[in-house]
Amino acid sequence: MNARPRDGLLRALAPAKINRELRVGGRRPDGFHELLSRFASIDLCDELEVEPSDGLDFSITGRPVPAGKDNLVLRAARALSEATGVLPRAKIRLHKRIPVGAGLGGGSSDAAAALRLLRALWAPDLPEAHLRAIAPALGSDVPYFFTGGEADVSGRGEHVEARPDEPLAELLLLIPPFALSTAEVFAEHARQTSGRSRIPEHLEIETSGKFFGPNQLASPVLATQGAMKAYLKSAADAASEAAITGSGSTIVLFGAGAGAETQLEKQHPEASLLRTRTLGRREYEERTRPAGGAQWRSPR
Ligand code: ATP
Repeated sequence: MNARPRDGLLRALAPAKINRELRVGGRRPDGFHELLSRFASIDLCDELEVEPSDGLDFSITGRPVPAGKDNLVLRAARALSEATGVLPRAKIRLHKRIPVGAGLGGGSSDAAAALRLLRALWAPDLPEAHLRAIAPALGSDVPYFFTGGEADVSGRGEHVEARPDEPLAELLLLIPPFALSTAEVFAEHARQTSGRSRIPEHLEIETSGKFFGPNQLASPVLATQGAMKAYLKSAADAASEAAITGSGSTIVLFGAGAGAETQLEKQHPEASLLRTRTLGRREYEERTRPAGGAQWRSPR
């Protein structure tokens, strides 16, 4: 797959995230929930390529996701064009590997990657702060993807505090064959808590010594999709720790035993299993930095 580099072609990876702990407070006057969460980046990446063109052209390969104007890549392109006054001219290709609606933040990571790549093409002098200012309007998780790695995320997602790297963790993802709607899960959370939930001052993982702390969306996820209960039980039996990431549907296993994959494949042949690991910040920055050169990296 080492095609010859083409003039002006830039590419970057868009890594997925997991939530190691997720606390959800009440709804704010602007309709968003107050959050407190520890995010970590993982080595499961979409891939984005841009090159100069006379118009705006967008195509997707890999996992299916609608390529219409609501795709976060095109929304990011329009937002950057409006902010800079540069006409939106580019050929954009997305290779999708991150499962959609799986709590892995793939759409948000793609949006951040599109902003970085298109800035390099359209407005290389635009300060990083201006680029970051566009992020929150595209989605609550998008600001995090300008930091990556281990970070505490709060507010509706707009406050991101980078944390030092932790030892890299080997993980196993158990991905059920259905997506979950973040909006539906938050609505169920509001029903269950009557809007009275509060976020703590500190995350539990700061002191517990465990890899995962509570995910307060877990109970609404189970209520929204009953099938999640069996996946969660199987995952907990196969690893030292298992937790739903974000609003599901992916379950992340930490400390999965040698036989975990065989056992889970037998129990849930309809689900997908993926070995991955966390990414340090430097690795995150290397993967996400726009670079010229060969087309598509070889798929992992
Ligand atoms: P959320 O950020 O809502 O918690 P998630 O991590 O569970 O999301 P995503 O894969 O980011 O899930 O997708 C959520 C929704 O965003 C889907 O309904 C999908 O159609 C839409 N979407 C728009 N653009 C993209 C994209 N480039 N990749 C994935 N999903 C996209």
